[in-house]
Amino acid sequence: LVHLAPLPSAPEGPLPRASVLASFEDVSALEEAEAMRRDFVANVSHELRTPLTALMGFIETLRSSARDDAAARDRFLSIMEREAARMNRLVGDLLSLSRVEGEERMRPTGTLDLGLVLRGVLQGLAPVAEAASVTLIREGDERGLNVKGDPDQLTQVFSNLVENAIKYGGQGGEVRVTVEHIAHEPVLRGPAYRVSVIDKGEGIEPQHLPRLTERFYRVDSHRSREKGGTGLGLAIVKHIVARHRGRLRVESEKGRGSTFSVVLPAA
Ligand code: ADP
Repeated sequence: LVHLAPLPSAPEGPLPRASVLASFEDVSALEEAEAMRRDFVANVSHELRTPLTALMGFIETLRSSARDDAAARDRFLSIMEREAARMNRLVGDLLSLSRVEGEERMRPTGTLDLGLVLRGVLQGLAPVAEAASVTLIREGDERGLNVKGDPDQLTQVFSNLVENAIKYGGQGGEVRVTVEHIAHEPVLRGPAYRVSVIDKGEGIEPQHLPRLTERFYRVDSHRSREKGGTGLGLAIVKHIVARHRGRLRVESEKGRGSTFSVVLPAA
């Protein structure tokens, strides 16, 4: 309402209708942004408090009952290590998110080979896949896949997608990463590459799909936490893809698996 009051220099009389409407929309946009910021701070506090509470509880126990029990001490220290690692991941993801949000309007300038980025991602995640008994399969062109981009950020995009496919789609036994060349991508108005990360796991019900890239949105919070998730992976992916003028798409069928694909303009 404050915004609806005429400014001191404004002419006398009622404001023209259009400007009243515009001011009203500005106020509601501001309020919405403020509510989102409050939600985010509340979420971050909650996410940090959970492992902190566990840590404080175990410190207390180590001081008292577990003091003279070596086996219990070891067990508690392992749990404390896991909780500290969770906080570390969360803080790391928060920093990544804030960086990529800040850089979203700065187009990357260097050219990179997407094939090399994908090879690095699959090599890096080979031990994770093996531990989950998942076979990683790479299909499509390997060489000369030139895109304008930031290699570290695109590595983060595909690492997050492949890691999610292993974490949530691993029961399917395999995760495929395919690359296709698109001669003319209508929205990007030019040649592009589509990288798809395909799993045959649990899949996602349709009502969740539009919300997956929201910060801290999880289909099953307990499961995500159990798997070490922070709930920020796909939010980070979304901002990096936007910075690269790309498009992110999810197709999924409950019980059948999911395909997350990223289309990037070819250099
Ligand atoms: P998290 O840290 O929880 O994995 P993400 O932002 O990476 O956070 O993913 C958000 C949610 O999307 C996950 O908690 C999970 O419920 C769902 N999800 C992501 N990838 C997949 C997948 N391949 N199969 C099924 N569900 C998925």
